[in-house]
Amino acid sequence: MSFEQFGLDSRILKAVKDSGFQQPTDIQNQAIPLALAGKDLMASAQTGTGKTAAFVLPSLQRLLQPATKRGAGPRVLVLTPTRELALQISDAVAQFGRFCRLTTGNLVGGMSYPPQNRMLGKPLDLLVATPGRLLDHMSQGRVNFSRLEVLILDEADRMLDMGFIQPVKTIAAAAPAARQTLLFSATLEGRVLKIAKALMKSPERVQLATNSDRHAMITQRIYEADDAGHKRKLLAHHLGQDELTQALVFIATKRGAQRMAKVLDAQGHATAALHGDMSQSARRRTVERMRRGKIRVLVATDVAARGLDIRSISHVINFDLPMVAEDYIHRIGRTGRVQASGTAISLVAPDDRSKLSQIERLTGRRLERGVIVGLEPNVHTPGNGRRPTHKSTSGPKPGSRSGAHKVKKAMSGPKNRNGNPGRKGGPRGRPSAGRLDANMNARPILG
Ligand code: ADP
Ligand code: MG
Repeated sequence: MSFEQFGLDSRILKAVKDSGFQQPTDIQNQAIPLALAGKDLMASAQTGTGKTAAFVLPSLQRLLQPATKRGAGPRVLVLTPTRELALQISDAVAQFGRFCRLTTGNLVGGMSYPPQNRMLGKPLDLLVATPGRLLDHMSQGRVNFSRLEVLILDEADRMLDMGFIQPVKTIAAAAPAARQTLLFSATLEGRVLKIAKALMKSPERVQLATNSDRHAMITQRIYEADDAGHKRKLLAHHLGQDELTQALVFIATKRGAQRMAKVLDAQGHATAALHGDMSQSARRRTVERMRRGKIRVLVATDVAARGLDIRSISHVINFDLPMVAEDYIHRIGRTGRVQASGTAISLVAPDDRSKLSQIERLTGRRLERGVIVGLEPNVHTPGNGRRPTHKSTSGPKPGSRSGAHKVKKAMSGPKNRNGNPGRKGGPRGRPSAGRLDANMNARPILG
């Protein structure tokens, strides 16, 4: 299939071509013709497979037809769970719609009201909104849905996870019954399926992924750790690897993210934090710096990293496992965007084991265990009778200066190559921090 075959307007095709897309992804191939035919549609595909263009392109095509009704309010409404996602979608709309004369806007929290109020008082072609802020305006009587032709629910599963089920229902109920509804999600199970059926009229269903075959391009591995200190050493090891170009490190708390970013930055990794306490503009600036390669390591909390689309992220590292197993899938989807492959590493301390088993239940497979020579855990997961399946993951590269996993011999010898006690010699069976700092500093900083 090519983009030409959809019968899209030449202005849209030109913008698609300019953005470097050569051929549609699977979800685009399946969803675009159905959306163009005016069908209601529920579609699932793994993260990073191009769902945004799958709904933006047919929406633009429709908007090139003149509106049938006059007055204020949007003709196409996209609902998405977070501000970041809303802004990313707006960017995609601007990109693909640049040769079409359209009025588009976004309505997200954390932004001031007066410009949003003015925007809602005018005719609008396409509006991207987060449910909370939109509902807020609706309760002030500022939103006119009489012109609405298409309602799009993006990342529907996330929206429900984030507690937006009621706002979504209220918004859908306020939209004209004759509208077209498109729902996109990473999963089409349970609650998502239920709400999809409630909001749509005999929808078409496009399902491209199941839990177990999602993220086939992403190497997933866990490393067991005895405690937080051990995790920090494992993190230092992984950050010291040459094949790690950019990493997104997930951590449970905002304060933790801030502290860790400071420490890693001081150790010579170009690092920044991303969390929900930062202003919207600070978050955007940080993401932009990451995108331009000024930052190599981004330490983030879940809420800030949702929807993040930076194609150069080679590694996602779960310093803390997510509270909710589903979030694991969303986190690792931050790497391996589209065709690129990626690596997802999870550091698992004894406290994290129940979370790990939930993740393994959800993904339907046992995650591969890795171990770094010199950084082995003292205790293995109970029931994990097998020895770890993967040693010295990336293997020493010729001329590599990162030493922690360098030579297997270091294990049996009394001292490793850095002169520190090997496994048996150290009080915790691990090398000292000093050696790891040297290892960390050995890595040149991108920038
Ligand atoms: P999803 O919503 O499925 O997680 P996105 O729509 O955010 O995925 O797309 C992920 C990335 O893939 C974006 O950087 C987007 O620009 C890119 N992309 C989407 N469609 C194509 C395509 N047909 N060819 C090349 N890149 C694409
Ligand atoms: Mg998406």
